[in-house]
Amino acid sequence: MSLYSGPVFPDCCNITCRATDYRTERTMQDFLKQDIQFLPGVGPAKGDLLRKEVNIHTFEDLIYYFPFRYVDKSKFYKVREIHPDLPYIQIRGTIKKYASVGGGRKKRLVAAFGDDTGTLELIWFKGAKWIPENFPPGKEVVVFGKPTVYNKKLNLVHPEMEDPSKIKKVTSSLQAVYSTTEKMKDNYLNSKAISKLQSNLIGILPSNFSETLPSWLLQQLKLVTLDRALKQIHFPDSVADHKQAELRLKFEELFYIQLNILQKRTIRKTEYKGNKFPHVGEHLNSFYKENLPFELTGAQKKVLREIRADLGSGKQMNRLLQGDVGSGKTLVALMSMLIALDNDFQACLMAPTEILASQHFRSITTFLEGLGITVELLTGSSKKPARERIHAGLQEGSLKILVGTHALLEDVVQFKRLGLVIIDEQHRFGVAQRAKLWQKSSVMPHVLVMTATPIPRTLSMTLYGDLDISVIDELPPGRKPIITRHFYENQRLRVFGFIKEEIRKGRQIYIVYPLIRESETMDYKDLEDGLESISRAFPPPEYQVSVVHGKMKPEEKAISMKHFVEGRTHIMVATTVIEVGVDVPNATTMVIESAERFGLSQLHQLRGRVGRGADQSYCILMSGYKLSEDGRKRLETMVSTNDGFEIAEVDLKLRGPGDLEGTQQSGIPFNLKIAHLGKDQQILILARDVAERILDEDPKLELEKHFIFAKNIRKGSVNKVNWGDIS
Ligand code: ADP
Ligand code: MG
Repeated sequence: MSLYSGPVFPDCCNITCRATDYRTERTMQDFLKQDIQFLPGVGPAKGDLLRKEVNIHTFEDLIYYFPFRYVDKSKFYKVREIHPDLPYIQIRGTIKKYASVGGGRKKRLVAAFGDDTGTLELIWFKGAKWIPENFPPGKEVVVFGKPTVYNKKLNLVHPEMEDPSKIKKVTSSLQAVYSTTEKMKDNYLNSKAISKLQSNLIGILPSNFSETLPSWLLQQLKLVTLDRALKQIHFPDSVADHKQAELRLKFEELFYIQLNILQKRTIRKTEYKGNKFPHVGEHLNSFYKENLPFELTGAQKKVLREIRADLGSGKQMNRLLQGDVGSGKTLVALMSMLIALDNDFQACLMAPTEILASQHFRSITTFLEGLGITVELLTGSSKKPARERIHAGLQEGSLKILVGTHALLEDVVQFKRLGLVIIDEQHRFGVAQRAKLWQKSSVMPHVLVMTATPIPRTLSMTLYGDLDISVIDELPPGRKPIITRHFYENQRLRVFGFIKEEIRKGRQIYIVYPLIRESETMDYKDLEDGLESISRAFPPPEYQVSVVHGKMKPEEKAISMKHFVEGRTHIMVATTVIEVGVDVPNATTMVIESAERFGLSQLHQLRGRVGRGADQSYCILMSGYKLSEDGRKRLETMVSTNDGFEIAEVDLKLRGPGDLEGTQQSGIPFNLKIAHLGKDQQILILARDVAERILDEDPKLELEKHFIFAKNIRKGSVNKVNWGDIS
C-alpha cells in the first residue's frame, strides 16, 4: 500500500490550498505517480517483475521501498580472518581458476579465490555464466558475501562481485540491502540493482520535494526534512545521518496514524448518535439477585460500570473488552445484554466457531434459567425450521438474545430493535464481516468487542486507538496459577506417566497438535502418528479418547467435543481448533506437541484452556531438541510467566506487529513501512502525544499552521478501512 493511497476522509474536508501550493503539489504528485517502467533502468520486463514480485508500481512505491538492513563495507577482511560466524563481509583478492562441478541439480560453478593469506571457494548454483567473463582469473576483485561451510570447506555462496576501482566511489560505509525474491535475482534485479534504481530516481527527483510535516514541528522535534530523510535512508552518509533519516520517517509514519485515529475518535464521540439505555431494570436485577452463582470480581464490576456509562450516554458505544483467558468475559457480555433487554432492545453475540457459539449458548441458557428470556442459537448447521422460527422471532421482537456464528451476518437475519452487538474473539473475524452487523439496525447498535489476546498498550493504542478500552485484569478467586514445564521428546514416557496419574485422580487431559495451513496433510499426519502412540499408551476400555481435527465434519466434531465435555472421555486429542474459548473445568492438563511451532500468544491461549477449576492445572510443552533462538525464548517465556500481558510484550518484540497473532487476521488497517511497533515504542508515544496536543487545540485541523496535516491525513498511510466504524 502506497503511503499516498487514496483519500481517507471525504473530499469535503476543511482545506483550501493556495494556488501556488496546489500547483507544486500537483507536479510532485504527477512525478511520483509515474509508472515504474518509465524510470531509467527499468523498462517493461523489469517493471513487470517489480509490480508482481514486490508491489512496486510507481516511482513513489520505489522510493518508499526501504532497505531492510545495511552492511558495513568500510573494512576489507583477509582470507585468514574468515570464519563461518562472521556476518556479510568483503574481501579483496583474485580468482585463481573457475571449475564447473557436479551434475543435475547439484551442478555448480566453483571459483578458487584468494589473497596473500589463503584461499577459499566461491560457489554459484545458477545464473553465473556471466561471472567468468566479467571477472577473469588473475584480475583483482572484491567479493562480498556471508562465509559458510559447504562440503567441509569455507566458502561464499553466490557472493556479490565488484570491480575494486568502483568500490572506491562508495562514499558511505553503510550500504543499503533491499529484499528481493528469487525470481528477481534470476533476472538481475538483486539488491544492488534496486540500489541503482534508487540512485537513478533520486537523481531526477524534483528539487521542491513536498514536505509532509510543517517546519515548526520539524524544528521543535529536531527532525530532518522529508527530502533529506528519503535520500539518507537509501544512501546514508554516515551512521548518524541514517539514524536521523530513520527517526524522521518512523515519526511521520506513526504520527499520521495517530492523528487519523484520534481525529476519528473525536468525530465519533461528538457526532455518532447511539440508542440511550437509561434503565437498569427487571432482567438485570433478577439475574443478579437470583441466578448469579458467584460474586463478580472487582474487575468485572469495574468494566460493567464502564459499559453502563457508555450505554446510558446517548452516544454509540465502541468498546474493546480485553481480558485474559478465564477472566470471565462471557458473564460481562451477558450482563451487558441484559441492560439492552431492560431498555426494550435485542442483543446478539457472535463467536468465530460453532463450538464456541454452542458453548456460549449453553452457558447463557444455564445462567438465565427460569428467567423466561428467550435465547436462540443460530449457526451454519441450524435446520430450516429452527431458522424460520429464529428469523420470525427476531422480527417480531419476541426473541431477545441471539447467539451464533457468521450465520448471523446473512441478510435474512433482521432484528426488530437490535441494540447491542457483542463480538467474541474478534481477531477471527474479518473487518468487512463485522461491518455487516451494524447494518442490521437503523441506529447503529452499541458494540462490544471481546478479546482474550492481550494486546500491549502501544499496540492497542495504534490498532484500537479510536476505541475505548476496558480491561479485566483480575481472575476469579480460587484459581491456582498453572504450572508449566518444558519436556523434550525423549521424556515422553514420563509425561505419559504423569497423564495417567492425573486421569487416576479423575481429571481430563488435552493433547494438542500444531496446525499450519500450508501443509494440512503433514499436520494431519503428525496428529495421526501421535494418536497411534496415545492409543497404545492409553488403551480402551480403561482409557477413552476423543479426537477433534480440521478434517472432520462439524457434527462429528460436536459429538467428540460433547463426549469430552460430559466427562465420558479422558483425553482430547486435537489440532488447534480448541484454541479459543472451550471451557471444561475438569480438564487440568494441557499437553502441547511440537510446542516450538506455535506462536507465543497461541501457546498462551491454549494454556488458558486449563486452570478453570479449583484443581492444580499443568501445561506441558513438548519439543524436539533443535530449537531456534526465538523458539527457545518462547518456551522459556511460557515456563516463566502466566501473565498474558507480559507474554504479549515478549511476543511483540520477537515477532513484530504485522505478525502478531490477531492483528494479521483482523486486517491491521495500515501497513508499516519502516516503524516497528515493538521496537519503536518511544517514537510511538511521542507521535501520540504530539497528535493529541494538536487535536486538543484544533480538532478539525482548521488553523493555518495545521493545513499541512489536514492535507496529508487524507492521503495518509491509514488506508480505506474506516476502523472506527468497524470495531
Ligand atoms: P473468558 O474470559 O476466557 O471468556 P469465561 O467467561 O469463559 O472466561 O469464564 C471462565 C470461567 O469462570 C467460567 O466457568 C465462568 O463461569 C467462571 N466465572 C466467571 N466469572 C466468575 C466469578 N466472578 N467468580 C467465579 N467464577 C467466575
Ligand atoms: Mg470466552
